[in-house]
Amino acid sequence: VRNYDTLQRFLFEEVGVRGEIVRLNATWQAILSCHEYPQAVREHLGQALAATLLLVAPLKFSGSLILQLQGNGSLHTLVAQATHCGTVRGLARWEGAVPCGELHEVLGDGRLALTLQGETSEPHQGVVPLTGATLAEALEDYFRRSEQLATRLWLVADSMYAAGLFLQQLPGQSDLGDDWERLTVLADTVTRTELFKVPNSELLYRLFNEERVRLFEPEPVAFRCSCSRARIEETLLLLGTEELKRLSAEQEVLVVTCEFCNRSYGFDQVDVERLRNAGPGFATPPTRH
Ligand SMILES: [Zn+2]
Repeated sequence: VRNYDTLQRFLFEEVGVRGEIVRLNATWQAILSCHEYPQAVREHLGQALAATLLLVAPLKFSGSLILQLQGNGSLHTLVAQATHCGTVRGLARWEGAVPCGELHEVLGDGRLALTLQGETSEPHQGVVPLTGATLAEALEDYFRRSEQLATRLWLVADSMYAAGLFLQQLPGQSDLGDDWERLTVLADTVTRTELFKVPNSELLYRLFNEERVRLFEPEPVAFRCSCSRARIEETLLLLGTEELKRLSAEQEVLVVTCEFCNRSYGFDQVDVERLRNAGPGFATPPTRH
């Protein structure tokens, strides 16, 4: 069992630190099948998906976490969104040839934003400048700047797998002393191949064999897009009724494709007219007979 498409939590029983391992294969392939991404883009997108799943899992809330990277480099936009139920989606936008290299060589100067989108609460967003050589370092910097729990991430991706390891100080543990240092030094020895291929229980034994680690049941992870006709209609309405009229005059059927999953939604003249009359606030389409 190589624990593909799962997230597995663990706990150091004698130290106030928790951890998680996520490993994507079919989920990652499904996301890759939506767009023809260059190699350098794949690596960063895969890491972003793994990171978002790792970061949403410890949160006690119902909703999703959105990681957005924006820069002036050839890879200018990277978005990953994961829900508390273990579903994930993501996309990247780039221009020209994207070099393989450190984060700033690929994304340039930019910013990293994390948005918590609760099902019942207002979104909460934190933004920091993009720093560090890797996405893991950029996220660790985010946690430091926002004075949150001590957090470390190890992220890897290629065209087959995307995986990550996560360690975090437990809430309420003010002073971990040397324990945090010892565990992160041990975790730093993890290799790409281990993260891609070694079963979780064996991987934890290799890294932390002198620690008492409790491993929880693996939880399934899957690609799922939350787009719907109603949500696309809301987006169309944001364009304004005049713009909608102009667009629908240009083409018989207005086709909107979701960038996350490539699903297309068609709106004919009647649909657009109905939308324009409904105006902002319209959310649910009427039943068709
Ligand atoms: Zn979609």
